[in-house]
Amino acid sequence: MRSIFLFIKGLFHVAMKKPFFISHLITGRCNGRCPTCRWLSPQADVPIEQIIRFYEEAKGFGFYSTTLWGGEPLIRDDIAEMVIAIKRLGFRIGLITNGYLLLEKLEAIHPLDFLILSIDTVGTDLDHLRGLPGLYDRIIEALGSLKQKKIIINTVVSNYSYPGCLQVAELGRRFRRPVYYEYPIGKGLIDRTTAKEAFGKILKLKYLGYPISNSRAYLRSAMVGYFYYRCRAKDISITVGADGSITNCITGKKLGNVLREGLKPVIESDEYQKFVDSSHHCHRCTDSGAFESARIFSLDSMLNVGRLFISQQTIA
Ligand code: SF4
Repeated sequence: MRSIFLFIKGLFHVAMKKPFFISHLITGRCNGRCPTCRWLSPQADVPIEQIIRFYEEAKGFGFYSTTLWGGEPLIRDDIAEMVIAIKRLGFRIGLITNGYLLLEKLEAIHPLDFLILSIDTVGTDLDHLRGLPGLYDRIIEALGSLKQKKIIINTVVSNYSYPGCLQVAELGRRFRRPVYYEYPIGKGLIDRTTAKEAFGKILKLKYLGYPISNSRAYLRSAMVGYFYYRCRAKDISITVGADGSITNCITGKKLGNVLREGLKPVIESDEYQKFVDSSHHCHRCTDSGAFESARIFSLDSMLNVGRLFISQQTIA
């Protein structure tokens, strides 16, 4: 019941352009070595006390949902303490992971409302792609034992993962988990012919009943490699970098640091508000999050995002 309430509250926030969601890189470190990664950074992790102070302030601003990622967030020794503290503040909390440490970090996994598991291909191909021997077997074991946990599979269709990525749909069916396919950016970029073939096949798998959660509109856009929408991401969310910085994603300019300066001076600055206004004319991102959130009031996107909100983990 609470999750349905949060979903409706989220729609209200979207309509009112009142941000409620935090996309938070809590580390630039990772146990993997993916050739496509753009997020690794040598800097030390921000101390947990600073992060919790930020969430206390964010709560006062009306934020109530967050997703922790990196790097690999489970690599932090204090991840369980952090998840529990953020959850106790009343946040709906998710985490994106490569899955290697899932069964070793159950104390952090238990309170999460959802997990996003990155699985780009299957078998030892995944181990090679991430530079983590034994990874795929660990993921299969975790999917088998975390039956009660809401897990969403995220699969990037890249030069490194195609055509093996198509088999992830079968994995989703076997473990009854939704799969989101993503159009690649940067190093793993596929050419137009491959994109048409790959996303055409994914669309067919969706029609065949595989648990593929992308909207048909997204998959059709991916087939032609062109995504047209008016970005709403900045109306509903902020993205906090591993050092606490907030960046103008159109120009790459850093607009402030919410962990050092606090949230208020950054998101209430004229520069930040100008950035939010300019974001409405942007449709550069090819990920399903930016695309589907821009179309949130269409039926298929609403159903897809709604499914993410249903089911919530509680903590004593
Ligand atoms: S579509 Fe543009 S404004 Fe929106 S998140 Fe992507 S880069 Fe930023």
